[in-house]
Amino acid sequence: MLKQLTRVSGLLLLLTFWAPVVWSATDWQPIAETIHKSQNDPRQYQAIKLSNGMTVLLVSDANASKSLAALAVSVGSLQDPDGQLGLAHFTEHMLLMGSKKYPKPESLSEFLKMHGGSHNGSTASYRTAFYLEVENDALKEAVDRLADAVGEPLLDASYADKERNAVNAELTMARSRDGMRMGQVRAETLNPAHPGSRYAGGNLDTLKDKPGNSLHDALVNFYHRYYSANLMVGVIYSNKSLPELAQIASDTFGKIANHNAVVPPITVPSVTPAQQGIIIHYVPAEPRKQLRIEFAIDNNSAAFRSKTDTYISYLIGNRSKNTLSDWLQKEGLADGINAGADPMVQRNQGIFAISVSLTDKGLAEKDRVIAAIFNYLSLIRSQGVKKEYFDEIAHVLALDFRYPAVTRDMDYVEWLVDTMVRVPVDHVLDSPYLADQFDPQAIDSRLDSLTPEKARFWIISPNEPHNKMAYFVDAPYEVDKVPAAEFTQWQQLEGQVSLSLPMLNPYIPENLDLVNKSNAPVKPALIVNKKGLHVLYMPSHDFSGEPKADITLAFRSEQSLNTAKKQVLYGLNDYLTGVAFDQLSYQASIGGIGFATSPDNGLELNANGFTNHLPDLLSELVEEYPKVVPTPEQLEQAKSWYLERLASADKGKAFELALQPIQLISRLPYSEREVREKLVKSITLKEVVDYRKSLLDDAALEVLVVGNMTAPQVEKMVNNIEAKVKPRGTQFWRGSRIIIDRPKKVNMQRVGTSTDSALAAVYVPVGYDEVRSMGYSALLGQIIQPWFYSQLRTQEQLGYAVFAFPMPVGKQWGISFLLQSNSKQPKYLYERYLAFYPQVEKRLRDMKDAEFNQYKQGLLNEMLQNPQTMTEEVGRFSEDFSRGNDKFTTRAKVIAVIQGLTQKQLADFYHQAVISQTGFTMLSQVSGNDSKVHEYAAPSGWKTYSTTSSLQKTFPHQVNK
Ligand SMILES: [Zn+2]
Repeated sequence: MLKQLTRVSGLLLLLTFWAPVVWSATDWQPIAETIHKSQNDPRQYQAIKLSNGMTVLLVSDANASKSLAALAVSVGSLQDPDGQLGLAHFTEHMLLMGSKKYPKPESLSEFLKMHGGSHNGSTASYRTAFYLEVENDALKEAVDRLADAVGEPLLDASYADKERNAVNAELTMARSRDGMRMGQVRAETLNPAHPGSRYAGGNLDTLKDKPGNSLHDALVNFYHRYYSANLMVGVIYSNKSLPELAQIASDTFGKIANHNAVVPPITVPSVTPAQQGIIIHYVPAEPRKQLRIEFAIDNNSAAFRSKTDTYISYLIGNRSKNTLSDWLQKEGLADGINAGADPMVQRNQGIFAISVSLTDKGLAEKDRVIAAIFNYLSLIRSQGVKKEYFDEIAHVLALDFRYPAVTRDMDYVEWLVDTMVRVPVDHVLDSPYLADQFDPQAIDSRLDSLTPEKARFWIISPNEPHNKMAYFVDAPYEVDKVPAAEFTQWQQLEGQVSLSLPMLNPYIPENLDLVNKSNAPVKPALIVNKKGLHVLYMPSHDFSGEPKADITLAFRSEQSLNTAKKQVLYGLNDYLTGVAFDQLSYQASIGGIGFATSPDNGLELNANGFTNHLPDLLSELVEEYPKVVPTPEQLEQAKSWYLERLASADKGKAFELALQPIQLISRLPYSEREVREKLVKSITLKEVVDYRKSLLDDAALEVLVVGNMTAPQVEKMVNNIEAKVKPRGTQFWRGSRIIIDRPKKVNMQRVGTSTDSALAAVYVPVGYDEVRSMGYSALLGQIIQPWFYSQLRTQEQLGYAVFAFPMPVGKQWGISFLLQSNSKQPKYLYERYLAFYPQVEKRLRDMKDAEFNQYKQGLLNEMLQNPQTMTEEVGRFSEDFSRGNDKFTTRAKVIAVIQGLTQKQLADFYHQAVISQTGFTMLSQVSGNDSKVHEYAAPSGWKTYSTTSSLQKTFPHQVNK
C-alpha cells in the first residue's frame, strides 16, 4: 500500500537527497549529482568517488534479500597485444586464482558457496567486468575478496595452463553459437588496421609462450598497465544504509592502487571504403535465413538523450498499414524485421544494424527486400524527421522507466557497471529510457549515412556460397564486393515499391489508475466455477502499485495434441496466427502489452501489461482468432518455418542434445521429429483451419487473472470472451504422465553435430511422491552442484559446461548430471562420474550440521524471497493453475518438505537414486562428430533405445487429475 503514495513519497525522497548525509571519513567524496531514478523506485542511490579515483554506485534497498556487487575496468579484447590474442579474457580468468590476502585459488568462490552466493566475470571488447551475489551478512567479506583479487592478484604461473584450457574450452563450445561465429567473421571483414579486426576470445594456440614473448610476462604487463583504480567503476547493492555501504566500498575497492593508467584512444576507423559495399555470405550453425545490413557508426554514447538511432530503429520495426515491416510480411518475403545500434563495440565506433528474418521467397528475392529497405529509409528522409514520433518514443520509454520489470540479480549489476562505462553516473539508471533532447539534425545526418554503398550486407542461410573458414570458430563464409550493376538494380526495384510511414500508436496507455484499494490476498480465488469454465483471480500482492495485469486463457482439450499430426497442426497454426496478428501484437507491445501462446494441454493464450487497453485488445484477439484464413502461400511459408525449426532442434550444443531425450520422455505422447517431418508436406489449409476451430470450440476454458482489475471487470471480460468463442468442452484436460514404479536402466547414444562430446545422466528413485521428490532434489542440487563443478571442471578440467541439477521425469523428481567436453568421449566422462558419485554420499553424510543447515537456509531464503516482477509473481501459480489445484498449495508444501528435511534423509535419497539405483536411471551420450572412434559407456544390464518414443512406450501412464 506504500506504493500507492508514490507521487507524494517521490517528492519526499527527492528531498532526502538534499539532506546532508553524515559523511565522516575523507576516504571518499559523494558525487554531487542526484542519481535519476524512477518515481516508483523506493531504493536510495548515491555515487561516490573513492580516494583512489574509482567511482562506485551505492544502492540501499531495504528489501534486498541478497547483496550484489560488481566491478568493471574499461579495458577489453581491443587492448589485447598482437602476440597474445585473448589476453584480456585470460586475465579475467587468472585474477581469481589467489590474491595477496586470500592466496588460495578460488577463495572467492569457496567463500560465496558457503554464503548462498556465486560470481562470474565477462570480457567484452571495451571492458572487463566481475560481479557477485551473496547473503546480506557476508557482503563485506565477499567484496573484500573480489577487491583483493582485482587489486592484488598473485597471477601464479602454475595455474596458467588450467586457465588456458578453460578459455580454450569456453571458446570451443562457442563454435555452435552463431553470435560468436558471426563476431569472428565480422572481425575478419573489418579494417585490418583496427584492433577489432583480430580474434578476441583466446585459445591454446594464441595464448602461449612464443619466442621472445612469454605468456606470463604478457599477463603481468597487461595487468600492471591497465588494472588501475582510475579506470574502474563499481556497484554495491545491499540492504544496508548508504553510509555503511560507502564504508564497505572504501575499505575494499578503496584499496585498489591507482597509477593513473590510460587506455590509448583508437583513432583508425573500423570500416573504410574497402570494407563497405560488400556482401558477406555466411553459413549459420543453426539453420535459418536472414538478411542483416550493418553500418559502422561513430560512438555517440554521450548523446544518449537524443535517441537518434532509436528513432530510426523504431520506424523500421514499426508495423502499421503499408510500413516496410507490413509490406515485407504481406508480400511473404519476411517473418519480421528489426533494427538497433550498439555505439560502443569498437570503442571509437559501433554498429547500426537492420535484421530481417527471411522466408524462402524472401531469400530468393533478397534484392527486392534490400530495395524496399532503402526505399523506406529514403521515405523517412524525404518526409522529414517528425517530432510526433520522437514524442511517442519518449512517452513509451518514460512509461517503461516508471513501471520497470527488472530482476535485480548479477546480470543487473553487470549491466549497471557496463552502463557506468558508457554514460555519466547520474544517468546510469535512466539513460536507456531518457529521450528529452530531440535532435533532428543528428537523425538526418545518420539517415544520410545509411546508403547501400556504405552498407555491409550479410546473407545468412545454410546454402550460402563460401570459400573461407573463419578462424577457430570454423564458420564458412565468403566476401564479395557488391557489383555496380547490383546498386543500379536495387535503385530500379526501389521504384516499384510504395510505402507509408507508421500511424501513431493507438495502444499507449493514458489511464494508469489503480483499481484495487483493499489489501491484496496472496493467492488467486476461484470466482467463477461452472461446467467448462473456471475463472481464478487475484489483485497483485507484490505489485499493487502498478496499473498492470497478467491474463491467461487456457483452452484445455484432450484432443488438441494427442497425435503427431495434431502436434504439427498446432505448430503450423501457431505460426500462421502469429503472422495474422503481427500488426496488432507489434502495436500492443509498444503500448506495453505482450501476447504469447503456448501448448499446455491445449492452447494457452497469455496477455500482460498495462490494463488500460488490455481487456479490449484480448477480446479483439480472441474474436479474430478463429476467423484467420491464411493463403496457400502463407501455409507453404509456415511449413518451411516448421521444418527449419525441426532441423535446428537437431543442431544444438552437445549438452543440449544430450539433455533432449531426458526432457522429451515426459512429453506424452512424444512423436519423433522424423515422423512429424513426413507429415508436414500433405497438410492442407482446410485441415489447419478446422484444427484451429476445434482448438477453441472443443475446449474447456480456464482463466487466471492477476493484477490491476476488479473481480467484476474480470467477469465482464470473460463473459465477453465466452460469448465470442463459445467453448463447448466440459473436461479440464490436464495431460497424462509416465510413471516410474520399478528399477529401469536405459541408455541412448548418438553422434553430435559439433566437435564436442557430452554426457547426461539422470537418477530418479522410486518411493518419493512429487512434492517430496521436488524438495529433496532441489536441496540436493544446491549442495552438489559446486562439488561436481569443482571436481570435474576445476580439478579434472573435463569441460566448460558442468552441471548437477534437479530434473523431473513425469512428475517424479531426481538428480541429473551433465557435462560437455571438447576433449573427452562419453565413455571416459562416465568413468569420472562413477568415481565422483561415492564421494558425494560420503560428504553428504560427514557434513557438519551447521554446514547442512546453511545450505538449507540458503535455498529456503531464495524460495521465500518476494517475487521481483509481476511475471515472477504469476509464475509461482502457473504449475498449480495448469494442474487444477485451485488452492495453490504446491509451493508451500515443497517449502515445508525442505524445512523438515534432515541430512540423513537427503543422503538416503541420494543413495537410493544414484548408488543403489532403485528407480529410473538413464545415460544420454553424445560423441563429437570429428572423433574417429565414438566411445560410449556400455554398463552391463542397461538397455539401449534408439528413439525417445520407443523408450516412452515402455513406461506405464496415468492421467493427471
Ligand atoms: Zn571466460
